[in-house]
Amino acid sequence: MKSLSKILEKWEPVIGLEVHAQLSTDTKMFCGCRNMYGDPPNTHTCPVCLGLPGALPVANEKAIEYTLKLGLALGCKISLKSHFARKNYFYPDLPKGYQISQYNEPLCLGGSVTIRQNGELKEIPLIRIHLEEDAGKSIHSADEKGTKIDFNRCGVPLVEIVSAPEIRSPKEAREYLIRLKQILQYLGICNCHMEQGNLRCDANISLRRKGEKPFGIRTEMKNMNSFRGVERALFFEINRQAGLLESGKEVVQETRLWNESEQKAEVMRGKEDAPDYRYFPEPDLVPMVITEKQLASIRSDLVELPHEKEDRMLSDYGIRLNDAIILASDVHLVDYFEQIVELGVDPQEAVKWMLGVMLRVLKDEIYIIESFPIKPNRLATLLKAVGNGIVNINTAKSVFQKMLTSDKTATQIIKEEGLMQVSDSEKLRTIIEGILLHHPDEVSRYRDGKKGLFGFFMGQIMRKTRGQSTPKIVKEILTEILDGNKT
Ligand SMILES: [Zn+2]
Repeated sequence: MKSLSKILEKWEPVIGLEVHAQLSTDTKMFCGCRNMYGDPPNTHTCPVCLGLPGALPVANEKAIEYTLKLGLALGCKISLKSHFARKNYFYPDLPKGYQISQYNEPLCLGGSVTIRQNGELKEIPLIRIHLEEDAGKSIHSADEKGTKIDFNRCGVPLVEIVSAPEIRSPKEAREYLIRLKQILQYLGICNCHMEQGNLRCDANISLRRKGEKPFGIRTEMKNMNSFRGVERALFFEINRQAGLLESGKEVVQETRLWNESEQKAEVMRGKEDAPDYRYFPEPDLVPMVITEKQLASIRSDLVELPHEKEDRMLSDYGIRLNDAIILASDVHLVDYFEQIVELGVDPQEAVKWMLGVMLRVLKDEIYIIESFPIKPNRLATLLKAVGNGIVNINTAKSVFQKMLTSDKTATQIIKEEGLMQVSDSEKLRTIIEGILLHHPDEVSRYRDGKKGLFGFFMGQIMRKTRGQSTPKIVKEILTEILDGNKT
């Protein structure tokens, strides 16, 4: 394979992404069945989602509200009149023989997703966001003897978010997806577990000669199950198309399936366009009428978007952009941070702690922040004890470890275990003088110019005081004694 930068010297990728996100409503899109992942197969079904004759769908109000919430957050134009349409196709896990989706007049038009590229904000425009239902799930048996179907997923509400073909590299595609996932989480409308299929992505891609306007012939890539997978699949396809075009051949419009284990895409089916689906307005559902009042109420509930949060963290707390990006990448993490700052912890100290200690513990001990055993008020007490000089940072780390498995407060643990720092100067001076008396050789070598021994003395003192002395005060006293010719 050629390197991407080599190909990009000559060709410009034109990428558009279609993201399907399952909405985290309690019930399905057109019936009262539970919208629940992981339960035994076919335990959440009814005549409506099984497509039995005569069963009538009723639209889920919450799913419409969630779609409008997403549309308003992304600056889309909301269609005040919108309707559902039948998209006709046969698939074994689609029992009705059609999917209820939207065609003309989708709920949201336009809008954009703001990503950050090398620190700069870039808007990726959207074409539309529409609401539809998911299909069931086919489970192919390993011995190829048959396929079982689970209809629990059939009828789960889905939004399809269609970007304009304005993405220019696999990396940009990945950043767009990461951002979109963050936005869905910030809005609280999708669980975003990729491994559970909450979030799925198809990509359209074509190449055009650099500097030219008209689009080339595109292919559609399906079946990528991670953001890295999307990036790899796009890279593979850019390489394949560039190879064809450079040898004078044509790209054929087709749908290709990404095979992650073999790192290649195989042809799934030929050209497919809207007329193949014979869309028509869904006769069993009344059109949706959205009122300005409804929109105003949803708008008043909107939260900050991730890029706004990053910017505000810079201006409100004076923290570095890179730190803000890491914290804001997870809505629960950034909420936690803001709560401890609200409780009086210095923002810089809070950042240091969260990125240095907390993320490592979350990762190593496989906690998720939502159910982290140390709630913000408990951590705030500990970090304030560090700020006030009651314990030093190393002691705080061990107190933190103890708090993970205990309900005790930081104050209780510090008191019970006598972990307070020794910052009483006179007491420290006595300890330091005692240590220097024990090391007369080192003291004279230090005074002869071997200044590196300072660290040795510091280490001895910290050990003697079990790490509970205030390094700043120890340093002052030690300097005074050593350099002031006193022992
Ligand atoms: Zn149902």
